[in-house]
Amino acid sequence: METCYFCRKGILENKKVTVDFRWGDKLFVIEEVPAKVCNECGEKYYSAEVSRAMEKIAIEGKKEKVIEVPLARLPETPSTVA
Ligand SMILES: [Zn+2]
Repeated sequence: METCYFCRKGILENKKVTVDFRWGDKLFVIEEVPAKVCNECGEKYYSAEVSRAMEKIAIEGKKEKVIEVPLARLPETPSTVA
């Protein structure tokens, strides 16, 4: 069994995930991505092959459909800690 490199206690499970993939100023939402997901912290790991495939989608601008994504910004807050 593989453990998570990030939190060092979680176990990695093979799953299909939806990835918010940023490429430059574009955001691609890619579904059905095979990944190893930590059952503790949720960190996702992709193989080099999968990463390349996602880059290819972004470079070629491949898409099934375009979805509307609300973009918001937090108002100015005096401090980041409570
Ligand atoms: Zn983890």
